[in-house]
Amino acid sequence: MKKLFTLFFAAIITNAAIASQPKKVLIIGIDGVRTDALQQANTPNIDALIADGFYTYESWHEGITVSGPSWSTIMTGVEYPKHGVTSNSYSGSQYNNYPYFPTRAKTCLPNLYAVQIVQWAPMSDNVYNDGWNQKIKVCDGCGANSVSAAQTQLANPNLDVLFVYFDECDLTGHSTGFSPVNPAYISAIQTVDGHIGSIMTALQNRPNYNAEDWIVLITTDHGGTGTGHGGNSNNERKIWWVGSGNNPVSKQLTGVVDPGSYAIGNRNATVALNNPSQADIAVTALDHLFRGTSCNPLNPTWNLDGQTWLDSLHSEPLVTGVNNVTKNDFNYKFFPNPSTDLVTLWFENDSNEPVNYTITDMLGKVIEEKRNATTMNKNRLNINVADKPKGAYYVTVQIGGNSKTNKIIVE
Ligand SMILES: [Zn+2]
Repeated sequence: MKKLFTLFFAAIITNAAIASQPKKVLIIGIDGVRTDALQQANTPNIDALIADGFYTYESWHEGITVSGPSWSTIMTGVEYPKHGVTSNSYSGSQYNNYPYFPTRAKTCLPNLYAVQIVQWAPMSDNVYNDGWNQKIKVCDGCGANSVSAAQTQLANPNLDVLFVYFDECDLTGHSTGFSPVNPAYISAIQTVDGHIGSIMTALQNRPNYNAEDWIVLITTDHGGTGTGHGGNSNNERKIWWVGSGNNPVSKQLTGVVDPGSYAIGNRNATVALNNPSQADIAVTALDHLFRGTSCNPLNPTWNLDGQTWLDSLHSEPLVTGVNNVTKNDFNYKFFPNPSTDLVTLWFENDSNEPVNYTITDMLGKVIEEKRNATTMNKNRLNINVADKPKGAYYVTVQIGGNSKTNKIIVE
């Protein structure tokens, strides 16, 4: 990912060129990997994604720590009270009301081509309205088969979304123990990390890789304790995910407060709002696919529970203009997002360059424009959004000959 990013800056390409890059999503699911075991294992390929990505070891499961309900949340962007899956029988599923994210994506991008490769058959057989153009099943624990199927799919230039799922860590946990001190469990995690390396190589070998805009999301569905899971202990509920895009800044999200769980009956919606949750995977994927279009990943009628973290793992558009500007010369933090009242830009550069900004709606109509709003050495610029109707906007910040656009949700 870093290589791709550097290339952008060397070339100094325009907004239009970046916007026209096809958006692509790779999701890698690893069943039953405890956070502390992942940190214990030797995983150079996941580490390489973390080094360029946004990640957390502190995502709390907000539902039932069983595979069927958990993957349903990851793929639909809603927790089980909405998608209805409470067990691996998948009975009670509400996928017609709360479909998998490829179905959501196709309501706006009908030509999207999406494929899933899974080892655990119920995830394929018991799910409907999932939007996959192809559902590929390989045998349980057959990671090498998943890799070879993924290599075939990644050679297809028309592929837009790929989900590859591995269950060998979960199988090993059930047979010998979900534990960071169980060598067999650690070894299974390391084996899957090797599979991820093969998949990343296949991704980067795509003939048009440098002209495509990929994000890679990796997550697990639950942890475990002893040889099982399904309960509400911290070792079952504490999970992790990694998002890697073209932003070379590695950022770990820490200090996350446990929002509680529907399964326990103590989920706190306010705390959950900024918590990195399973439901965020689908929403972040939709946001990436929809960026630069008029499609809204947070379509209110979809009633999604997740939020997008795309701006944390992906800079876009990057830089326009004529100067050979490095990222640090034009760097700022942008928070909070979503916001109800104020959005803060925080500049880390103490030059006296004036800062201009423009707020546009999703259709490109200018809502607010301000020249010389501040200078970078004043560090902070607060923009009031409380007077704007709820929804999504683009905030384009222009300094000297350079500009950068962030998407903001006003709630
Ligand atoms: Zn599972």
